[in-house]
Amino acid sequence: MERQEQQKASRLVFVLFPSQGHINPMLQLATILHSKGFSITIIHPKFNSPNSSNYPEFTFIPISDNLPESQDSFGDFGIVSALNKNCEGPLTECIQQMLKAEDPQDRLSCIVYDSVMHFSQSVADHLKLPGISVRTGPAATVLAFAVCPRLDEQESMSLDGKSDLLSLLLKELAFSMKKFTAPGFLELRAAVTDSVQRCSALIFNTVDFIEQEALTKVQELFSASAFTIGPFHKLAPTISSSLLKEDSHCISWLNKQAPKSVIYVSFGSVASIDEKELLETAWGLANCEQPFLWVVRPGLVRGSNCLELLPINFQDSVGERGCIVEWAPQKEVLANDAVGGFWSHCGWNSTLESICEGIPMLCRPFFGDQNLNRRYVCDVWNVGLELEEFERGKIEKAIKTLMVDTEGEEMRKKATHLKEKVGLSLKEGGSCYNSLNDLAEKILSFRP
Ligand code: UDP
Repeated sequence: MERQEQQKASRLVFVLFPSQGHINPMLQLATILHSKGFSITIIHPKFNSPNSSNYPEFTFIPISDNLPESQDSFGDFGIVSALNKNCEGPLTECIQQMLKAEDPQDRLSCIVYDSVMHFSQSVADHLKLPGISVRTGPAATVLAFAVCPRLDEQESMSLDGKSDLLSLLLKELAFSMKKFTAPGFLELRAAVTDSVQRCSALIFNTVDFIEQEALTKVQELFSASAFTIGPFHKLAPTISSSLLKEDSHCISWLNKQAPKSVIYVSFGSVASIDEKELLETAWGLANCEQPFLWVVRPGLVRGSNCLELLPINFQDSVGERGCIVEWAPQKEVLANDAVGGFWSHCGWNSTLESICEGIPMLCRPFFGDQNLNRRYVCDVWNVGLELEEFERGKIEKAIKTLMVDTEGEEMRKKATHLKEKVGLSLKEGGSCYNSLNDLAEKILSFRP
C-alpha cells in the first residue's frame, strides 16, 4: 500500500497485548495507518515481544511488565489483570518522555490501544491525550461485556429491542464466559466497558455487513464513534508478525496438491488439547482420505512433545497425503488454491482470514468468543459446520461432508460469495474504505 503524504505529520502510539491473535491485527492496523501518513511507535510488554526487524519504519519500545518467568499459575485471565496493573506506570513514564522530547513536526496525536489493555485509557486521560480502543475480536464481544451485568445470571442480560439473532449470539458468549469464574474476571469486564465508555473512538476489525446488528447496538450504547475498517489483514501487506517460526515447506507441499482438495487444520496460538484428542485427530485425518495440512504447535498438548505422541504407524498410513508443521504461514496457506476447507478453533483472526479467501470451515471452538464466532460461521453466514467431538469417526465424517459432499459444496459457494462482498467493502467507495478515511480525518482533528 502506498504511503499517502498528509499535510500535518502526526504520531500514533500503539499499545499491544502480547498474544499472537492480538499482535497480528494491531500491527496490521499500525501498517494501515502508517500508509495513511501517520508515524508509528509500538509500545509493548517485554513478554512475547514482536519481531521489530520486520517493521523498520516503526519505533518499538518494550516496557517492563513484571511478569514472572512462567505464566502457568496465572489461569485464563490472570495475565490480563497483571499486565493492566503492572504496565500503567511504565506506559505513563514512557509517553511522558515522548511528550517532553516531542518534535513539533511529529506530534503525538493519540494512544491506540488493544481494548484488553484497558489501563491505557487511564494513561491517556491522565496525560490529556485522546485514546482509541481497538477491539481485535468481533464487535459483538464489546456488547456482551456491556450487557451481561452478572455472568451467573444469564437471564438478567438486558438489551432493549434486541433481535433474536443478537440475543442468540450474546447468550452464546455469556454462556462461554460463565466458565470464567477466576477472581478478577468480573472486574476486568467492567474495566474494559468503562474504558470503552471513555475512549475518543473505537476501531473494529470487522466488516459492517457481517456484524450489522451488533455494530448498530454498539453505536446506540457507546458515544464514541466506531470505525469498522476490517479485515485489517487484507489492507496491510503480508508481513509476518509470527512469534513462532513459520515453516514454509508446507507451501511447496500445497503446490503439489489438487485444487480445493486439502483440509487445513489449526487451533491457533492458545487452545490446547489432551493426548487422546490429539490421537483422535490424527486418526480422523488418516481415515478421511483427503490430503491435510496440520499445524501441531509446541504446547498444543500441554507439557508434551506433541509430535512424539503420534503413533509410529500414523506417518506410514498417511504417507505424502499429510503434511505436519509446527507453525504455518496461515494467510498464505488459506490463499493457496489447493486448500478447500479449514478445520479451525474459530479464533476471530482465523475466521476472518478464512472467509476472505472463500474457504468453508469445520468449527471446533474452545473458549471465549470462539463460540460466538462459530455461531456466525455456522448459523448466520452458513459457511461452515460444527464438529461436536474429538472422535475419529465424527472427524472423518465431518471432513468428508465439508470437502466432498453437496452440503460442503453449498457452503463453499456461500463462502465465495462472502469473499466477494468483503472484497467490495475494501474497494473505493466501500464501507471499509470510507471508514478508514473517516478515521484518518478524526485522528487529524485530535491535536490540530
Ligand atoms: N497463525 C499462523 N500460523 C499458524 C496458526 C495461526 O500464522 O500456524 C496466525 C493466524 O493467521 C492468526 C493468528 O495466528 O492471525 C491466530 O489468531 P486467532 O484469533 O485465529 O486465534 P488465537 O491464536 O488468538 O486463539
